[in-house]
Amino acid sequence: MKIIKKTNNVNTSYRPTDPEWIVIHYTASTQAEAGTAESIANMFADPKTQASADFIIDKKTIVQYNPDILARYCWAVGGSKYPVQSTSKGGTCYGRCTNSNSISIEMCSQKKDRTSVSASDKDWSIPYSVKRKAVKLTRKLMKKYNIPASHVIMHHHVTGKLCPQPWCYEEGRLKYWRKFKKKIKRKFPPVG
Ligand SMILES: [Zn+2]
Repeated sequence: MKIIKKTNNVNTSYRPTDPEWIVIHYTASTQAEAGTAESIANMFADPKTQASADFIIDKKTIVQYNPDILARYCWAVGGSKYPVQSTSKGGTCYGRCTNSNSISIEMCSQKKDRTSVSASDKDWSIPYSVKRKAVKLTRKLMKKYNIPASHVIMHHHVTGKLCPQPWCYEEGRLKYWRKFKKKIKRKFPPVG
């Protein structure tokens, strides 16, 4: 698995403790073509963004924004809990999973109708090649940092945010999350 490592630590902090959670996100980008992950990494490198994530995946590439996972943490899951939850998983890990004890993976998304970019739109999706790379990367990180599948969650589990939106905007969408969880737990790694 080829991972392009960046070198700067803008919008990250000193990590006081080993990571215990892996958090899956979507970028809310309207396309996921090659180069999208790099341009999001460039956005994280702008001090004005005030946000970051350890990894970003597009159709072609995995970019590691945080060059030293054990030394620094990204600003990806902070903020308060949403007052209303779209699914039964929303906010269930709030207070336990934080920026300082987690690793975040951003999946680049795509959208059919690009004239509207509302989080409530139903035409956001995660391309298959992005999901496949997300499974492989998650498995690799679970092994490397000794993180069990029970500690692999969506951003949605932390604050209730619709993230990744296609997997949590309503209860029925959780079936896509369960599919992902099944794949990271498989005894033998996925082919390809
Ligand atoms: Zn998120």
